[in-house]
Amino acid sequence: MRIGLGHDTHRFEEGPARRPLILGGVEIPYHRSLVGHSDADVLFHALTDAVLGALGEGDIGEIFPDTAEENRGRNSAEFLEYAAALLSERGWRIENVDAVIFAQAPKLGPYKEQMKARIARILNIPPDAVGVKAKTGERVGFIGREEAISAEAVVLLENNPK
Ligand code: MG
Repeated sequence: MRIGLGHDTHRFEEGPARRPLILGGVEIPYHRSLVGHSDADVLFHALTDAVLGALGEGDIGEIFPDTAEENRGRNSAEFLEYAAALLSERGWRIENVDAVIFAQAPKLGPYKEQMKARIARILNIPPDAVGVKAKTGERVGFIGREEAISAEAVVLLENNPK
């Protein structure tokens, strides 16, 4: 077995949203958006890093640099798909993933099931092998002041016997 850990933070844009707020591959209606070279999906970035970490690979920034034009505005589902393909090529399968999103706002409860379904589909695992939880920052720190959204993820890989 292998375990992987991922973390990511993206800060909010100043002023009104300049693009959609996307978390876990789901577009969340909100009047603000996150700064990022790609689509700024912190949850997909944390999950991708968790898988890459379990494989002993580099991090998402090494594989998909934020200086590369091809990654500008890129759909982060492609990063997670890349990691999923890599783990299967290497003879691993995912037992489960678990993740926490840290966001004071917006309220994410109504979108967690959609996120789980989206993640399960990309990683080719059942939805009950995906945990997605949302926590506020209790109004303290950079999360609580609504300056940024963060995400953490862990993944457990198992050898995939042929
Ligand atoms: Mg990121």
